Amino acid sequence: MPRSAPYSTRFPSLVKQTLFHRLPDEQQAIIESIAGEYRFTHQDLRQICEIALDLHLWEEPDIEQVWPDPSSSPRTGKALRQALIQQVVQYWEDAKSRPNCYPLNGPQERISAAAKPVEKLKGKLGLGYCPVASPKTLCCNLMTLDAVDNCGFGCTYCSIQSFYDGKEISFDQDFANKLAQLEIDPDKTYHIGTGQSSDSLMWGNSHGVLDALLDFARRYPNVILELKTKSANISHLLKSELPRNILCTWSLNTETIINNEEHGTASLEKRLAAARAIADKGGIVGFHFHPMVHYEQWEADYQQVIKAVTTKFKPEEVALVSLGTLTFIKPVIRDIRERGISTKILKMPLLDAEGKLSYPDDIKIALFSHAWNCFPESWRQQVFFYLCMEHQRFWEPVFGFNYKDNQAFETAMKKAYLQKISVTST
Ligand code: SF4
Repeated sequence: MPRSAPYSTRFPSLVKQTLFHRLPDEQQAIIESIAGEYRFTHQDLRQICEIALDLHLWEEPDIEQVWPDPSSSPRTGKALRQALIQQVVQYWEDAKSRPNCYPLNGPQERISAAAKPVEKLKGKLGLGYCPVASPKTLCCNLMTLDAVDNCGFGCTYCSIQSFYDGKEISFDQDFANKLAQLEIDPDKTYHIGTGQSSDSLMWGNSHGVLDALLDFARRYPNVILELKTKSANISHLLKSELPRNILCTWSLNTETIINNEEHGTASLEKRLAAARAIADKGGIVGFHFHPMVHYEQWEADYQQVIKAVTTKFKPEEVALVSLGTLTFIKPVIRDIRERGISTKILKMPLLDAEGKLSYPDDIKIALFSHAWNCFPESWRQQVFFYLCMEHQRFWEPVFGFNYKDNQAFETAMKKAYLQKISVTST
């Protein structure tokens, strides 16, 4: 469309590929009016719509209230437009640097990410390496087995939903057969997790997935098979003979974060009760504090969760505690805004962190150190603690120890897990 056309005629094409369509009607009207007055470019509209949507989700004053009074500026034309937009950007940046504030019971609106289970015939077994590991972070070289593709929970920060198209949860109809035929080196120790492409337990034994995994663990005692979950769906495990080399691990968070950002998942109480039932059956459990979120009352809330964990479990029953935080890649941030869900998860300073976006170092060290310090000495001695997806520079300030490289980290982790497995089995 020619630039000579009236702005109101050009506006619909200028807002294409912006988040304009995600805004409530009244905010769309305000932005259209401001854009017409100041002749916003496509780039301006992208930025202002993104900020308007964020402010709306964060329950901050909306764009109309934040838009500055132009009469206080001596500028005119393009310079005035840029100065006003800059003031809005500054307001948004300031809002991001203030800790988040959540209602304890969560928002009215609940979402579930994906809900349509389908059976498909996949080409080959999805066995690979942790998809979020990076050469820039100290990593445990976890292997991953994609037993199910996509997750049915609605965690707002999750990247799994961005890896898969649509709302389909797909089960490979030949998964059990493929896993039964998998040959691995019996002299090597493997650490394999199934919680990277989906939640490991939310589907129970649907499509025979858990039976296939339990058989695989029985056939290969040299495999440490980790089932990671935010569910309490352990009924199939409770009625099965549980091989010692199965680690059942729960991602934990505070009630506030579970209620506000982990839609559809089991409550903290239910997750801990499920873990307790597995430990009572003689299974080895573990806990992932990931992602730790920085918000008002985070210190007291995480302390309370850790107190619940250390009261309900003995360190001998627990193989691992991992600590991690929010780390985003740009496509996931775009997806979160596009989904139009009620979330404040992006209300945080998003700084470059080893090529991804995360909290500044001082906040990460505060989060992780606080968690570490909340655990009693007996836990720090007997449980394997690690940072997940973090640069090596955080280990020393948080734990007072470090691994020289991924190989040393992997070796120490496997040694600690095997020790727990052999002790539990005696
Ligand atoms: S430390 Fe975390 S991100 Fe790195 S390989 Fe292990 S599980 Fe994956």
